[in-house]
Amino acid sequence: MDLRDTLANLDRAAAGARMHALVARLFPICRSITGAGVRDTLAILGERLPLAIHEVPSGTSVFDWTVPPEWNVRDAWLRPVGGQKVADFRRSNLHLVSYSVPVRATLPLAELRPHLHSLPEHPDWIPYRTSYYKEDWGFCLPHRVLDALPDGDYEVEIDSTLADGHLTYGELELPGESGEEFLFSCHICHPSLANDNLASIAVASELAAALAALGERRYGYRFLFIPGTIGSITWLARNQARLARIRGGLVLANLGDAGGFTYKRSRHGGRQIDHAVDCALRDHGEPCREIPFSPWGYDERQYGSPGIDLAVGRLTRTPHGEYPQYHTSADDLDFVKPAALGGSLAALLRVVTILEGNRRYLNLSPQCEPQLGRRGLYRSLGGGAEGRERELAMLWVLNLSDGDHDLLQIAERSRVSFLRLREAADELLGAGLLRERA
Ligand code: ZN
Repeated sequence: MDLRDTLANLDRAAAGARMHALVARLFPICRSITGAGVRDTLAILGERLPLAIHEVPSGTSVFDWTVPPEWNVRDAWLRPVGGQKVADFRRSNLHLVSYSVPVRATLPLAELRPHLHSLPEHPDWIPYRTSYYKEDWGFCLPHRVLDALPDGDYEVEIDSTLADGHLTYGELELPGESGEEFLFSCHICHPSLANDNLASIAVASELAAALAALGERRYGYRFLFIPGTIGSITWLARNQARLARIRGGLVLANLGDAGGFTYKRSRHGGRQIDHAVDCALRDHGEPCREIPFSPWGYDERQYGSPGIDLAVGRLTRTPHGEYPQYHTSADDLDFVKPAALGGSLAALLRVVTILEGNRRYLNLSPQCEPQLGRRGLYRSLGGGAEGRERELAMLWVLNLSDGDHDLLQIAERSRVSFLRLREAADELLGAGLLRERA
């Protein structure tokens, strides 16, 4: 199965529905940077993908960081003495600050307040808060609830454990013929939040399944399902010998909302991955904005740190922090749209189709235009726009196949779609007018 066929035959609606169902299945699980929720999530992904699951012990040194203790929760709630629960982990895992230490206490409201978090500007939403690297605890509530809490004493119950255990991540390696590879990386550390980042887990899984089904691959593709920051640092520390083979990659995040795409370029910009994404999104046709690299955001800041320096960009729809639902209970299953998931998958399949299909050619008849009609290359051309487009594609490929330009560069210059150029190149090769250059 050629990837061009996969792309042409993609049923976006069906794939979107499948990905949304996966998001819905993963949604209730309480994930964090370590713990049972991460394992449960990877086990579900592993039903479809032959994932390798890695367990790295707490206390392991990874560059300047240390793998933290493992966090697990059985239950957590808060209630006025003798009253109803006002925050209940079993109703929403967002109610508990992630990595909260175990607590069982009765406290007056005044002492409790520093541990309570809300969003006054969105009084019905529960915020998402974490305290990974500072021992702390807390509850997140709708501001409407927080505001109405009566004075008096409150019972706090956080039945959690923070103990030596493991950091867990999943990895899928799909080898390719060239020995070089591209990386796709997404977070698995967020609890019940749909767009950030279950949407990208679903899109990455679907992309991985499509690439795994290919008979042959020019490049290898590696998929990482890792906790944010500490996960990429841990993977990089354990895989330094492999980095020279990585030509580039993408961090995938926030790929399920109804917004257009934002592509954040790799550290140096202008690398193969940057050109491929640029061309793929132009051909894909949804709105796209490109922004330069910055050492901020998701794991591109680790992949793009100076001592690692991988050409890893970041593809999102609306970036983190640019939509009000981000890191709140409003980032729910309704916020993620099956059509957006389907479009994200289609765009990424196009990126990989370009990486797999990009070539550099030499025009073997460069003195004036070769006579295309004599070689039967006009034969299948109709008189309409379709025929003119194909002819134009051939003329661009012939003109710029001077040894300096590859198909991606020809696409950038001509604004003809990559697939159209590739088709033209195949026809010209067949007619003996081109030869491939290394
Ligand atoms: Zn996040």
